[in-house]
Amino acid sequence: MAYKYVFGPVLSGRLGRSLGLDLLGDRICSMNCIYCEVGATRNLTFERKPYVSAADILIELAAWKAEGLTPPDVVTLGGLGEPCLNSEMADVIAGARTLFPGTDIAVLTNATLMTDPEVRAELALADIVLPSMDSLVEMEFCCVNRPCGEVSPEAVAQGLLKFRKEFSGKIFLEILLVEGVNDSDENLGLLTDFCKRLKPDRVDVVTTTRPGTVKGTRPVERDTLSRWRAELEMGKCATCPAEVADCEVMPQEHLVALVKASLLRRPQTVPQMAKALNADQKLIRRAVEALVCGGDVVSREDRGETFYHGTGHVLEE
Ligand code: SF4
Repeated sequence: MAYKYVFGPVLSGRLGRSLGLDLLGDRICSMNCIYCEVGATRNLTFERKPYVSAADILIELAAWKAEGLTPPDVVTLGGLGEPCLNSEMADVIAGARTLFPGTDIAVLTNATLMTDPEVRAELALADIVLPSMDSLVEMEFCCVNRPCGEVSPEAVAQGLLKFRKEFSGKIFLEILLVEGVNDSDENLGLLTDFCKRLKPDRVDVVTTTRPGTVKGTRPVERDTLSRWRAELEMGKCATCPAEVADCEVMPQEHLVALVKASLLRRPQTVPQMAKALNADQKLIRRAVEALVCGGDVVSREDRGETFYHGTGHVLEE
């Protein structure tokens, strides 16, 4: 089966082998972050709608399960934009739990919709919520995340604090630093105070490692990362590799489809995909070459590494 909304598994430093569900089907988001891996937001909105129906997503998830591959460590709602914008998110979580009982359900979110009590109640159905909060300095927040409308970092922070009180699962907060944009001491001070109040189960301070939306978006130095991590008293960094299961054996045609679905959502190198899909690098390289030949995928050099991504991944100059 060719999957439109199920992708991966991808190897996530925070979650292990994560099977992704795309709840948007297009680049639909309440932000247009300069570092976004999936490309520039096409529809910048706060409107909640069934952009993809829960039924369509769950039909694919059931088909993936029926293939009998090694089950993922976690099923993660995310994809090409902000999953909370899908008004059928609660049905997706419930359906995924029925199909994969005992497997954690996680949601990646930019937290902007947590100002809405209904969204917080739906998110509370998950086991792990991974919100991002890159800056509490208004100007930095606008520059790095380029949100829809007039959402303020203070409002998002308040929504997150309310959610902490309502949610009994785990919160993994992510802070992504871009050099010269949100790596100020003022932001570090505000986020340190915020983390003391939020008490997330873990904090991951990361920097951009893949091609982003805006050319010239640069990662911070290793020293800066170390200083922030020490200040925020976090444990593991987001790049800790997870254990992967034994190599899967699957037909090349099927591997090509999985690689294509994965690259449409996230630029990756061949070794990264090989780890995530439990496949031999040679087979992955062959799949990527077939996709490049067919015009579905292009390559891009970035900091000495070759990343591949879908041809729809739009960059800004
Ligand atoms: S990084 Fe996340 S929040 Fe930012 S534009 Fe991309 S999908 Fe939206």
